[in-house]
Amino acid sequence: MSKKYQVVKGFRDILPPESKLFWLCEKLAREIFARFGYQEILLPTLESYELFARSIGTDTDIVEKEMFIVQDKKGQNLALRPEATAGVVRAYIDGLSNQGPAKLFYFGPMFRYERPQKGRYRQFWQIGAEAIGYPGPGTDAELIILLDEYFKDLSLKELDLRLNSLGCKQCRPAYRESLVSYLKANQASLCEDCQRRLNLNPLRVLDCKNETCKAITKNAPSPSEFLCPECSSHFDRLRNLLSSQKVSFQVDAQLVRGLDYYTRTVFEFQARTGLGSQNAVVGGGRYDDLVEELGGSPTPAIGFALGVERLTLLLQEKIHEQDLISGPDLFLIFAGEKAYQFAFKLLFRLRAIGIYAEMILDEPSRSLRSQFKVADKVKAKAGVIIGEDELQNQMLNLKVLETGKEMKLDMESLKKMSGIDWEEMKSHLSTPGFAFASPEYEQTLAQNQALFKLLKIYLIQMEEQEE
Ligand code: AMP
Repeated sequence: MSKKYQVVKGFRDILPPESKLFWLCEKLAREIFARFGYQEILLPTLESYELFARSIGTDTDIVEKEMFIVQDKKGQNLALRPEATAGVVRAYIDGLSNQGPAKLFYFGPMFRYERPQKGRYRQFWQIGAEAIGYPGPGTDAELIILLDEYFKDLSLKELDLRLNSLGCKQCRPAYRESLVSYLKANQASLCEDCQRRLNLNPLRVLDCKNETCKAITKNAPSPSEFLCPECSSHFDRLRNLLSSQKVSFQVDAQLVRGLDYYTRTVFEFQARTGLGSQNAVVGGGRYDDLVEELGGSPTPAIGFALGVERLTLLLQEKIHEQDLISGPDLFLIFAGEKAYQFAFKLLFRLRAIGIYAEMILDEPSRSLRSQFKVADKVKAKAGVIIGEDELQNQMLNLKVLETGKEMKLDMESLKKMSGIDWEEMKSHLSTPGFAFASPEYEQTLAQNQALFKLLKIYLIQMEEQEE
């Protein structure tokens, strides 16, 4: 036997039906982004290493330890993107800044060389949005409200929104100084990493997961005590706007987020249960200085990134993957070569008018019984049985697979039923909606658009046979 290959450590195959959950998350996000006026941006996964070092910061875990770095043939350092904000800003400066502000969203894989565990992978997908050129706090509120609505639509209620303000270039230095002097007083008890961070990037100490460090930072000075009047009123207004929309939140003085570029508003949506230590589903914040730092003109901005794997882990607790599999509307079951030919033609006609139809394509002599078995296995809703009899006597033979109810229609009835306009037929029905499994077969037939369309197409194809 040849060598079997395995997926690279920390990388995952997203197989069906999990892939369908991804698709659902993406689809819903696209709908919401459209309503909120965000447009899609598609970016390369590879960027210059320097872009990330410059934006995220060289003293961060991401840049220090977690980047996938590759060299091109000319020896230039490139990196698989660990996040997308830096790329979005680069693209904005390059191609969009002359058009003013932009509200953008993206969907795609990110790469970080982290220790893999539940909810933490080396390749993971993010859905993100960036509002560039908007000073806030109305836009800060808009992004948070968008996420709140998204989670409501997904029926995810056990998420807490944590909010903080990190201040700006004016007020951050005083806070930083006070934090450093507090941490220095406790230096000996800090973990090795934090002792080093203390001088390089003291805010990161607040992010440390080490229990002793956590106990120390619990009483550390909070950035909110140092906010300048502008930052303070920005933060007040954001909280007011969120409250006016009944979006609940908790101010978390320890929330700093791991990246260097944040200013003012930072936030996270954290799962109460289901994700263990990797409980942050969304991380976001304002980055008012980044556009300028990356070579653009001073432009305020805010964004967020949502981890799709963590979202699907939460959804998997609520949705059974089996329920995600929706079988074909119609399964064509044939007996003999002539019937196969008829079914083959019908299959593509049905698909062309939007019906999810299936048949066994590769085994023209398969028995009826085993075709029914496959139809059941793939959860087909109804079977169309095409045999010698049906072709000779020009009959439509339908079976609702869930109930086992069968109905045979001759050409006369087919003509009568398919001649009625669908809208008219609907208006005669007392029960609204979809009722495929209804025991009342005629009613079921009429209520289902797929079957209604089948009647018309089947009739056309039968009439062609006659010619
Ligand atoms: P960040 O870019 O670090 O602010 O992360 C934003 C979101 O991306 C987090 O809240 C997670 O949902 C997700 N995320 C970050 N890192 C990983 C990872 N290694 N594996 C899976 N999801 C991740």
